[in-house]
Amino acid sequence: MRVLATRKVLFDLRTLRNPLELITSSLMELSSTTQSEIRLTLDALMVLTNGIRQSGIDLRSTLDDRGFSRAPDASAAAISRLTSRLEGLRPLVETLSEMEDVAAMARVNEELNELDVRPSIVEHGGVGPHIHWTPATATFDDQVMTDMLMALAQELCDNGTIRFGRCGADDCDDLFYDGTRNRARRFCDDPKCASRTHTADHRARQSRAREAPGKK
Ligand SMILES: [Zn+2]
Ligand SMILES: [Zn+2]
Repeated sequence: MRVLATRKVLFDLRTLRNPLELITSSLMELSSTTQSEIRLTLDALMVLTNGIRQSGIDLRSTLDDRGFSRAPDASAAAISRLTSRLEGLRPLVETLSEMEDVAAMARVNEELNELDVRPSIVEHGGVGPHIHWTPATATFDDQVMTDMLMALAQELCDNGTIRFGRCGADDCDDLFYDGTRNRARRFCDDPKCASRTHTADHRARQSRAREAPGKK
């Protein structure tokens, strides 16, 4: 996908009047397409890891919702293998936010070594050309694990571990991937975590104001 997008930049350069503006806009497009793919995949990894920890997640429908097109037809055996493989990956995913980049990279390399990564460029379902990391004959669990680890590898190269976080609400341990531009995310997907914490902060400010009137 990167190669194809770069070729498009060169092509447009020859035909357009303002090359600089074009380079800027094409590079933005380039990074946002790749990044949104990575973001979706890492988001799915966080949601699945949280779900597996609380042992209350429908793996199949969660993956289906997040664009894993083989999920509805995956065999029960593949879903069950995937559950235990994600459980195996959980210690790594849970510590990403506290890990040094180098240590995280070494761990992801270990995981990648176990996989049969065989990339190819494909075009299907109205989506433009993009890379699949496993052949169509791969099992569903191999495909998902490879997609997750390749997204993780790409993220570590681009940003290190800085975008991995844990919910800031007092009684929630859920993990998240922070895909916001300015890395402003503090809470998991559950809107209750943010509102509960904001209410608590507000009450704390009010009671401080009552204790020390005139002091803001
Ligand atoms: Zn595809
Ligand atoms: Zn939370």
